[in-house]
Amino acid sequence: MKEIVYITLENEMDLILANRKAMKLSERLNLSNATQTTFATAVSEIAREVIECTDRGVVSLGVISERPGYFLAAKISYPEEVASAGLMEGLSYAQKLVPILENFQDDASQVVELKMKLPRSSKLNASKIRTLQELFESEEPYTAYEEIKKRNIRLNLIAEERYEKLLQSQYINDRKNEFISIASHELKTPVTIIKAFSQIALSSSGEDTCSEKVKGYLAKIESQASRLTALIQQLLDVSKIENGKIDFQIETVSIRAYLQDTLSLVQQVVPNRPLKITLEDDALVSLDKARMEQVIANIVGNAAKYSSPDTEISIRMQRAGQTMIISVTDYGIGMETTNFQRIFDKFHRAESVSKNYSGLGLGLYIASRIVAEHKGRIEVESEIGEGSTFRVYLPVCGDIPETVPGAD
Ligand code: ADP
Repeated sequence: MKEIVYITLENEMDLILANRKAMKLSERLNLSNATQTTFATAVSEIAREVIECTDRGVVSLGVISERPGYFLAAKISYPEEVASAGLMEGLSYAQKLVPILENFQDDASQVVELKMKLPRSSKLNASKIRTLQELFESEEPYTAYEEIKKRNIRLNLIAEERYEKLLQSQYINDRKNEFISIASHELKTPVTIIKAFSQIALSSSGEDTCSEKVKGYLAKIESQASRLTALIQQLLDVSKIENGKIDFQIETVSIRAYLQDTLSLVQQVVPNRPLKITLEDDALVSLDKARMEQVIANIVGNAAKYSSPDTEISIRMQRAGQTMIISVTDYGIGMETTNFQRIFDKFHRAESVSKNYSGLGLGLYIASRIVAEHKGRIEVESEIGEGSTFRVYLPVCGDIPETVPGAD
């Protein structure tokens, strides 16, 4: 059937609507006044019975091309489970009015189809059917109810389209995560082997000792393999985050003692940089030691990467109420305010760094997600050419217990 009108049957108002549209369509198709009324009455009789049983019925009005010509048709469909109740009265009355009536099952719906032969004077063809479709589509609503209904249909369509798009982008995102996860796993093994063999070659002695020049090459291979390992690890972390598979081993620690230990490890990430460390306050904080070290190492590593090698990096920790604030300040390239939020997005890098500094733009995304899992947040304050301060806010979970004098 070439559908021209579509009406959902939700309440009695739709009965009036179905009747009017059926009248109007048959009028447009040059049926006599009596036939218009007959057709419209048959449609509304069945629709009335459907509405009494369910609010999930639908009326489609249109035309069917079948030898020997065109038919005006109405399809009234309703959920299968309603069918068992039967539409006895309406059906038998409609059949008296429109003899070509079929009642059949289509997917999970029961359908009543009414057909009326169209006169030659209706001069129906594909272009006239299209015109009729446009006419009913653009027709001004008869009543406020019809207007609301039309709007609702449009809104539902938009919502459906959006939902479709959302599903599609979710699908693409899932495939992308799957790819990242597989690719990084596959890359990890060969890179680890390259690194291990370059270390063995570097440390070999006796007959196996290589020249200083070759040692230089090996050292470069080793250091680039370490960089690759770090990048692969970032990709693996992203896929774990996206799949909700990061496990946290939470412990409650003295944040000052923890940070002292962590910063001495982090210093190895930036061996030649002066770190000025001021740990003013202390408190108990619940955290995953390894993951928080990853956060601090990333922020300090960035501070070193985006500033000149001779400048200081200062690390400070203070307590503000029930929050510990760890700040890392550098005096490097800084960034535009427009980047303050976006640098925490996956793969986002400030335009100014893309050409001159290597990186994937994942470190801060991972760091912010780890900190968020600790019920904290990271913020940045920065000025182009002046430097940046990154602040990690972590909730305090208790005060450091006072030691009892003379207890030991
Ligand atoms: P990457 O450093 O690999 O690009 P990150 O996620 O760690 O990825 O950082 C995202 C972006 O934030 C960087 O590309 C850079 O533009 C900006 N950024 C981070 N730290 C600093 C900093 N200390 N100074 C200036 N820009 C920074």
